[in-house]
Amino acid sequence: MQINEILKSYFGYDSFRPNQEAIIREVMQGNDCLVLMPTGGGKSLCYQVPALAMEGTAVVISPLISLMHDQVEALKANGIPAEALNSGNDVTDDLIIRRRCEAGELKLLYVSPEKLLSEIPYLFSNIKISLFAVDEAHCISQWGHDFRPEYSQLGLLHEKFNGVPVMALTATADKITREDIINQLHLNGQTFVSSFDRPNLSLTVRQESTKKEKLKFIYHFIARRPDEAGIIYCLSRKNTEMVAEALQEHGIQAEAYHAGLSAQQRASVQERFKMDQIEVVCATIAFGMGIDKGNVRWVIHYNMPKSIESFYQEIGRAGRDGAPADTVLFYSMADIITLRSFCEESGQKSVNLEKLRRMEEYAESRVCRRRILLNYFGETSSKDCGHCDVCNNPPRTFDGTVLTQKALSAVVRAGEKIAVGTCIEILRGMQTPAVARNHYNELKTFGVGKDVSVRDWQAYMLQMLQMGFFEVAYNMHNQMKVTPLGWKVLKGEHQVSLVIVENEERAPRQQRVNRPSRGSSIPVVHAERVIFEDEMSGVEDKKLFEYLRKIRKNLADEQGYPPYIVLSDKSLHELTKMKPTTLQAFGLISGIGEFKIKKYGDTFIKAIKKYTGK
Ligand code: ADP
Ligand code: ZN
Repeated sequence: MQINEILKSYFGYDSFRPNQEAIIREVMQGNDCLVLMPTGGGKSLCYQVPALAMEGTAVVISPLISLMHDQVEALKANGIPAEALNSGNDVTDDLIIRRRCEAGELKLLYVSPEKLLSEIPYLFSNIKISLFAVDEAHCISQWGHDFRPEYSQLGLLHEKFNGVPVMALTATADKITREDIINQLHLNGQTFVSSFDRPNLSLTVRQESTKKEKLKFIYHFIARRPDEAGIIYCLSRKNTEMVAEALQEHGIQAEAYHAGLSAQQRASVQERFKMDQIEVVCATIAFGMGIDKGNVRWVIHYNMPKSIESFYQEIGRAGRDGAPADTVLFYSMADIITLRSFCEESGQKSVNLEKLRRMEEYAESRVCRRRILLNYFGETSSKDCGHCDVCNNPPRTFDGTVLTQKALSAVVRAGEKIAVGTCIEILRGMQTPAVARNHYNELKTFGVGKDVSVRDWQAYMLQMLQMGFFEVAYNMHNQMKVTPLGWKVLKGEHQVSLVIVENEERAPRQQRVNRPSRGSSIPVVHAERVIFEDEMSGVEDKKLFEYLRKIRKNLADEQGYPPYIVLSDKSLHELTKMKPTTLQAFGLISGIGEFKIKKYGDTFIKAIKKYTGK
């Protein structure tokens, strides 16, 4: 079969994404290659298609059993003979898999690096291997963020299996790691770098800073997205539990996930999330590594991450199926103070501070946020994305000189001994214990900022901090210290422009959206979420979508599959719009190959007919 036919009949897709075809051809000619693609970019297809087209079995090396399991499940659901050989199998499973392998029945075999090494003289010297695919290849490098010692011996693949192409795949792009992978695996071939842009993800930064405000925003956000799966990332275990409980009280199926839970508890949360039995997981960064769930529709950062790399990896877990997904980052002074003090105490202070600084720049940006992200990963983009909050609601500024002078003057009059919270109390004229104890109510600045709410003061102070008008002494109870530039403001020698704090979540100003000119699908802003125009050719019937989603859930439950393995959200949306009533029309839906046409076609067609009364 030709590779285009394989793509259509097994995976149900009409065309390759950029680089996929070139990579596949390269491997099929027997050449090595290194593939860099963002999460959700479509790496798996790069070895799965050649595995089906070539003679023998493709061996895929993967670091995590759960990942192997997800991939094998998805392949089987497309009618592709694949298995995983790992320590989780029992003896009989193992034996059957070996037999099928030796009989040449399996097109793909997933293994852990340990298993691969131990089987080199046995199983792997008895079978015909079409190619090796080293997934999550950054694990080989000590420079990467996820080094695994077992990976470092994979260099012997070339020596032991002369002539079998080796492909390495990763979503981590930095240069040192890249070179390390090539050297250690002795790769002799091209490197393919795909764009790291994820146009289906919307990007928003919010300034809610207190627990109450953040939760309120989250309730509204979830209420507008009933039954959609999402992840909320927090900095501390305590916060994950607090947020999960607060959501549960609102009737939302939410669970906490962090390193303090037992392995069993963690596995259970992960499993139920995959099966769409939990809507929201409130997690520390540990969550998401080991799952391939395609229908995560949103990611919220309750706290700011420590670097753009972490942030991008975490938001990357949304919308892997390519359908629109939303991401929101809460950016607050409290997080900056905490994160900066972590950096101060860390072994690599200057590197970590620099990384944090870049993350702060993203959050503060007054230009398109996607441009900042892409720029960080070394891609320059000359167009605004039209799909971030800055593009949708360009920030408006005002002359904030007097406001800044009020704040700095309060700091100076209090002897530079106050933290931000107390400073706001003074400005607002609040009679708090700290104020009374230190007689701050006698200061000239007491109450001069009554007209600005606490929340707004926090947001403005954050801007003042970032513009360098004052510093926070982390080792002295976070006292505010006015900088030389701050003194210039106080003396009237430096004008300050501040961004107006927007309190309500405003509807995006549609007319201001800058539309990207290239590409076939032009995002247009629709309510909060961008929907791609080509998908809007038919208008979606929400009720029908819900109905079909229930059917998908039933089919999944019957087979013990996660729903997204039966059909992706993207396919389900297309089904809703196209309403196919014949098997042929059903097969035109993206993501539905021959196997799924046979397996699910009749059920969905019947449901659509029943619904439309045809
Ligand atoms: P990665 O491993 O890079 O994170 P996946 O291989 O899981 O990404 O692919 C992400 C999603 O994109 C999957 O749902 C996959 O089926 C889909 N996909 C991959 N290639 C194509 C394509 N050529 N056309 C449409 N969808 C694709
Ligand atoms: Zn933008």
